[in-house]
Amino acid sequence: MPSFVINDKCDGCKGQDRTACMYICPNDLMKLDKGRMKGFNQEPDQCWECYSCVKICPQQAIEVRAYADIVPMGGAVIPLRGSDSIMWTIKFRNGNVKRFKFPIRTTAEGSIDPYKGKPTADISKINDQNLFNTEGTLLKL
Ligand code: SF4
Ligand code: SF4
Repeated sequence: MPSFVINDKCDGCKGQDRTACMYICPNDLMKLDKGRMKGFNQEPDQCWECYSCVKICPQQAIEVRAYADIVPMGGAVIPLRGSDSIMWTIKFRNGNVKRFKFPIRTTAEGSIDPYKGKPTADISKINDQNLFNTEGTLLKL
């Protein structure tokens, strides 16, 4: 189920060089067609289906579709973000629609410090078999 940009909704992130979907994709798949100012997934079969681009798109312009539905046959996963929750609409090919609502985290984007509380890496121990945050308590092999 790769990501799929709905052209009518996408505004190319208003001409930013690095669009939200380009910024967030861990596999560097999202591109901006500067001629049309539309984002697109340049290699759908490499998509990790992580939904990051789907969730971050400010225009709600990205859906996830079954591979066969790149030429739409009706199936889709569509997010609708609110301030404190996200509603997922699941459309099945047979016309069934299901909706699921989940709370979303409130941590501001880009504000997480993954090394908070960890010691500073000591480059002189580069050949040590311990991890950088292990204080010499492990037996060396
Ligand atoms: Fe278009 Fe959304 Fe990508 Fe921005 S994040 S370029 S609006 S698909
Ligand atoms: Fe990239 Fe994840 Fe979006 Fe696929 S779903 S295009 S891997 S951000």
